[in-house]
Amino acid sequence: MLSKHGVSATDIYRVSQADKKEKDLLKMRPGQTLEFEIREDTKELHKLTLVKNKLEKIEFARNEKQFNSSRIVREPDIVQTYKESTINSSLFVDGLKSGIDQRLLIEMANIFGWDIDFALDIRKGDTFSILFEEKYLDGEKIGLGNILAAQFINNGRMYQAIRYETNTSTSYYTPDGLAMRKAFLRTPVEFTRISSKFNPNRIHPLFKTSRPHRGVDYAASSGTPVKSAGDGKISFAGKQNGYGNVVIIDHGKGYTTLYAHLRSFAKGTRKGARVKQGKIVAYVGQTGWATGPHLHYEFRINGIHKNPITVKLPNDDPMPKKELKKYLPYAQKITSLLEGYHSPDYQQKLASVRN
Ligand SMILES: [Zn+2]
Repeated sequence: MLSKHGVSATDIYRVSQADKKEKDLLKMRPGQTLEFEIREDTKELHKLTLVKNKLEKIEFARNEKQFNSSRIVREPDIVQTYKESTINSSLFVDGLKSGIDQRLLIEMANIFGWDIDFALDIRKGDTFSILFEEKYLDGEKIGLGNILAAQFINNGRMYQAIRYETNTSTSYYTPDGLAMRKAFLRTPVEFTRISSKFNPNRIHPLFKTSRPHRGVDYAASSGTPVKSAGDGKISFAGKQNGYGNVVIIDHGKGYTTLYAHLRSFAKGTRKGARVKQGKIVAYVGQTGWATGPHLHYEFRINGIHKNPITVKLPNDDPMPKKELKKYLPYAQKITSLLEGYHSPDYQQKLASVRN
């Protein structure tokens, strides 16, 4: 591009030397702009500017026989915006209709995902409100920021989440300071239906004898990813008789989870490996005693089998007391801010939930 405009190979070399460390010019992408100033008579390059995006540019300014680079960053104005929506057909259809960006809807579904199963629990008439940030530059909207607070009224229950930054991390909390994130996912797999419930007195479909079913079977197509329900350490990954390929994860504090009939294991799944919540550990199959592809999932506390669908899941690590003292007044402030925006319809719905 530069030589096309008559810039000498020497100048191009010099400017590339100024870019040696950050390599911004080498990492240019389609859509980014280059601005340059060239002396009309000598074609000497005077200044080169790479406009990376609306907020960031890199300037290479001539200083005799070399170029000095400097990064110029602009901060957008942050504007708080409020939206609310009522669900008639689906979260996405109605959310988008209310002018809420898809990215925000996905984030909101993730924030409430431990309490609300967005595939199964959503009812017509559910309603929600969010307070979020929009970024503006010279009066023009250029993007979205964070969700500051959100409320979701699902099937007659109200959930509220507030974004808060502690010393160690940023997360969403209830107005009382409990983490929205639970220590365990309710379901470790995207399933089509529950093919067999937790039942201590079940007749086994293959053996026709009384055999307790100490887990839940989630029907899913072969190869569907299976995620670790919580942070932990793999205590077993291999074959075990009727279970076929099975993974057992020890989550500490007496909690273990088991995933059976797997087709195969994910990379890195082996005894002793540490896993985070949501990490893919294996894939659905029908190894062992299984009549079709499904995940058999067990949840144990101190060795005792619990029903994974109904077991009370422990909260994530609570907020430290010192943080909580700072958090509570903030939560109160943001809650009243959110409530100040509610439409009369929304207020009525909220009142009916509280009474
Ligand atoms: Zn089963």
